[in-house]
Amino acid sequence: MPVPKKRRSRSRKRTRGAAWKIVLPNLKNCAQCGTPIISHRACPNCGDYKGQQVIVFKEKKSASKDA
Ligand SMILES: [Zn+2]
Repeated sequence: MPVPKKRRSRSRKRTRGAAWKIVLPNLKNCAQCGTPIISHRACPNCGDYKGQQVIVFKEKKSASKDA
């Protein structure tokens, strides 16, 4: 069974572990509706991308519509 040749120091172990960190994606406000969106993606709120409507929603989801 393979066994590590040298003991990993506390510092080396922690240094390697520190490379794995969560990075917040680049957020940018939508030009159409202003909600924060991931850049280079269509807006999930209004379906706008580069000033064009790329997603057509069948109906708008609004909570106040029910009567
Ligand atoms: Zn939008």
